[in-house]
Amino acid sequence: SVARTYGDVNKHKPQEYWDYENHKIEWGEIKSYEIISKIGRGKYSEVFQGINILNDKACVIKVLKPVKMKKIFREVKILKNLTGGPNIIGLLDCVRDEQSKIPVLIFERVNNVDYRVLYPKFTVADIQYYFTQLLVALDYCHSMGIVHRDVKPQNVMIDPLKKQLRLIDWGLAEFYHMGMDYNVRVASRCHKGPELLVNLQQYDYSLDLWAVGCMLAAIVFKKEPFFRGDSNNDQLVQIAKVLGTKDLMAYLNKYGLKLPDVYKNILGDYPRRPWSSFVSKENVHLVSDEVVDLIDKLLTYDHQERPTAKEAMNHLFFSI
Ligand code: ATP
Repeated sequence: SVARTYGDVNKHKPQEYWDYENHKIEWGEIKSYEIISKIGRGKYSEVFQGINILNDKACVIKVLKPVKMKKIFREVKILKNLTGGPNIIGLLDCVRDEQSKIPVLIFERVNNVDYRVLYPKFTVADIQYYFTQLLVALDYCHSMGIVHRDVKPQNVMIDPLKKQLRLIDWGLAEFYHMGMDYNVRVASRCHKGPELLVNLQQYDYSLDLWAVGCMLAAIVFKKEPFFRGDSNNDQLVQIAKVLGTKDLMAYLNKYGLKLPDVYKNILGDYPRRPWSSFVSKENVHLVSDEVVDLIDKLLTYDHQERPTAKEAMNHLFFSI
């Protein structure tokens, strides 16, 4: 299985572009930054609001937790390759704690409003605007040979006053090389594509478009998250309860995969659920034939049939 577009991007880049293991990080001065307050803690880091005392500029200070240096090199190399691209969070500096040598990444700061507050207030025009911005970021990283692999509301920073969107957290992102087998233990449960849940290791950029479909369906139908599994296995069951079991089997067949044994007892024979059944008086003002068609195309089992970020951007929904 090969990506329909941007499949050979890294083939045409110099080795140092994708060979992150041999990337030498140039460490800046940690003394230039001061912590103001804590913003959040992730699985892989603690994140603070900070300031660059040399120019008084606000920044975000991401103190990494001890993980393999290889993972840190990958995140830094990808951020360096993408920084300056449209709607990509800007990496400003890499520094190290003097004693512990723990790496610390310095980013531009977004005045993010929590998605649980922001998304419920979205109008159709807001959805069109911010999903276009998200797709622009994804088309850019895909065109640069990189899959984000952790698209979810928590990783999409939005400043509604500036109407600014930034895709953050490149810690799980990876270079795409045709024919390569990838780890399926990526993304967050509710946004994991079917390819990950059936152990299809040759996935590609289209993984990110599944997650966009999950985000769009959640906002439009006011059901956050749209697929809520209580384990990885249950996640596929929740997907099958909407998209049906028959098309899941057709997907497995197409790629010569067997349904993993764990599903034998938990996966029923579900019919496909019509999108109209998700419409309620709470969400009807956001629903149109066009947005439902886009959701339907993004939430396709077969990763090769999903629209690319470019194709999604050009969907009719964005011109209504
Ligand atoms: P996770 O475990 O969710 O993957 P992580 O350890 O990889 O997290 P990030 O996702 O990069 O860390 O950051 C954690 C949180 O910090 C984000 O969800 C966000 O709330 C906040 N944050 C990170 N970067 C920024 C930024 N540039 N501007 C504003 N807030 C940010």
